[in-house]
Amino acid sequence: MRVCDTIAGLREARRPLRGPLGFVPTMGALHEGHASLVRRARQECASVAVSIFVNPTQFGPHEDFARYPRTPDVDLRLLESLGVDVVIIPDADEMYPAGHVARVTMSGYPARGLEAAARPGHFNGVATVVAKLFAIVAAQRAYFGQKDAQQLAVVRRMVTDLDIDVEVVGCPTVREPDGLAMSSRNRYLSPDERRSATVLYRGLCRAREAWHDGERSPGALRRAIVGELLLERVVRPEYAAIVHPDTFRIYRGRVDGPALAAVAARVGTTRLIDNASLD
Ligand code: AMP
Repeated sequence: MRVCDTIAGLREARRPLRGPLGFVPTMGALHEGHASLVRRARQECASVAVSIFVNPTQFGPHEDFARYPRTPDVDLRLLESLGVDVVIIPDADEMYPAGHVARVTMSGYPARGLEAAARPGHFNGVATVVAKLFAIVAAQRAYFGQKDAQQLAVVRRMVTDLDIDVEVVGCPTVREPDGLAMSSRNRYLSPDERRSATVLYRGLCRAREAWHDGERSPGALRRAIVGELLLERVVRPEYAAIVHPDTFRIYRGRVDGPALAAVAARVGTTRLIDNASLD
């Protein structure tokens, strides 16, 4: 496995790799969710590239950029064991050298509402770094988790709108045995908060049950989620919404198309998101 900290180094390491090349962008602090993307890429592609980069431009000024977990040694050992060919782990100056001004701007759905409303500028930061990584790695396929469903929709939209020649592959959310979606941020949780955090998944399950019982009112489906969240003292709901999985438009009347239930909540001071398809 070649580990590169420069763009030039990555380009050189990439050149002899057999195609198709699969690419998994990450912010590190890797867990089984990330590993599932790498395994899928390994199955479907002749070569696999992974990036580890905690992208400052997708964090708001009061968010957790400085304390975001960084575990590069453990991450690299995991990637090696998964048979990854090349890793790029650049620092911020390599990705954003002095004088850089170009940005990707997402000016409408799916980069509107929910995460976009809660984290202004977040998806412009995501779109910019993903576009740069696509240009650097030049992979045929890129693997993203359904865990960050709005991000996946934003990346798909960007790839379509900018005519980027990469196939975006969405992969299922990997969960802990008790249902909590795996996330690098779960390690912020105290033992009590960790127990309460399963309520996001339980809320989504309530919405799914209601859906299977024929409920099509987005208000009632939302209430099924929020009602569950409110059972946990340390959990403060931020949003619960029933959206179209591609456009992320919120259903207001009857749900009459493909539907995704999306939820965000603070568990103590940690902000967690999760989602589930209702179809
Ligand atoms: P991150 O390191 O959090 O930026 O995530 C990198 C990639 O891993 C993104 O495409 C995420 O959606 C994906 N990912 C994160 N958590 C999970 C999970 N629990 N299951 C599947 N994919 C995940």
